[in-house]
Amino acid sequence: MDSYDAVVIGGGPAGLQATLTLARVHRRVLMIDSGSYRNDPAGHMHNVVTHDGTPPGEFRAAARKDLAAYDTATVRDETVTSVAMDGDHVVVSLGDELVRARGVVLATGVVDTLPDKPGLSELFGSVVAHCPFCHGHEFAGGHVGILGVGGAGHLPGLVGPIASRITVYTDGEDLGADLPAGVAVRTDAVTGLCRSAAGATISFADGPSEEVAGLFVSTTFAQRAPFAEQLGLRLNPSGCVEVDVMGRTSLPGVHAAGDMAHVAALPMPMASVLTAAASGQVAAASLAAYLL
Ligand SMILES: Cc1cc2nc3c(=O)[nH]c(=O)nc-3n(C[C@H](O)[C@H](O)[C@H](O)COP(=O)(O)OP(=O)(O)OC[C@H]3O[C@@H](n4cnc5c(N)ncnc54)[C@H](O)[C@@H]3O)c2cc1C
Repeated sequence: MDSYDAVVIGGGPAGLQATLTLARVHRRVLMIDSGSYRNDPAGHMHNVVTHDGTPPGEFRAAARKDLAAYDTATVRDETVTSVAMDGDHVVVSLGDELVRARGVVLATGVVDTLPDKPGLSELFGSVVAHCPFCHGHEFAGGHVGILGVGGAGHLPGLVGPIASRITVYTDGEDLGADLPAGVAVRTDAVTGLCRSAAGATISFADGPSEEVAGLFVSTTFAQRAPFAEQLGLRLNPSGCVEVDVMGRTSLPGVHAAGDMAHVAALPMPMASVLTAAASGQVAAASLAAYLL
């Protein structure tokens, strides 16, 4: 069985940074990456200082190049099937192969489920977005839609200075709240979307279709990997792993970072490339301290 100081599971921003942090202090660290990233649908990432507009794949390639400079860091493109404790060690399974480590950083991210509308998933990450900080400026000066009542509370105000016009499409639901002045509401059931020259055409069960430059949706998300459940880690109501401010989970030696984890004081992760990387750094530094 191969043995390491630490295993990092996940090669997104959280896992890449956690691995770099452990490599910087010459810990024998193995990063394992199954190659499924939350921002896979997006061609470019934004709101990432020095990388505003960089394709996510370029960012990851640059991060792996950084890691290649450290002899104690190993990267494997494989899928972890299980994680278990063996006394005070962690045993990570890659199919039939077992890897042992004194600690682990889980950075396996989450998976989004989108509103079930024909054509919507194909446009997610470009014309359809869930975060105005990531995709908002790209719709500047255009008609921006908000699908569903979930985002109707905060998105009109947030997107207001970007859009020329905003419409909330309630998709048959009751809005149940007042909107800022000037925000239009359409209540008919949305039947589908397709790409158009302006952005997207939205069709409805009744009445004419509408053109938008961009459409915001709310997603639900779940753990991408089963390890929190396998290890019996304490979860937040969001379904993310509960960590303290140092990225420690309820199990000693098991740290977590990125979108899959957050402190109990937050309702959900502050999901972004930089916050994921920052939490990866903190979780790895506190794991290095634990290993002492
Ligand atoms: C469409 C979209 C666009 C976005 N755009 C932006 C943006 O412009 N700017 C921004 O800051 N944020 C953006 N985000 C958010 C950002 O992508 C996430 O917050 C960030 O990627 C989270 O990083 P992470 O490392 O936690 O998870 P991820 O990047 O999802 O990485 C998870 C890692 O875990 C690995 N993994 C999972 N299970 C296993 C397993 N069993 N074995 C081995 N490896 C495993 C995966 O392969 C992957 O390497 C966007 C999100 C979406 C959905």
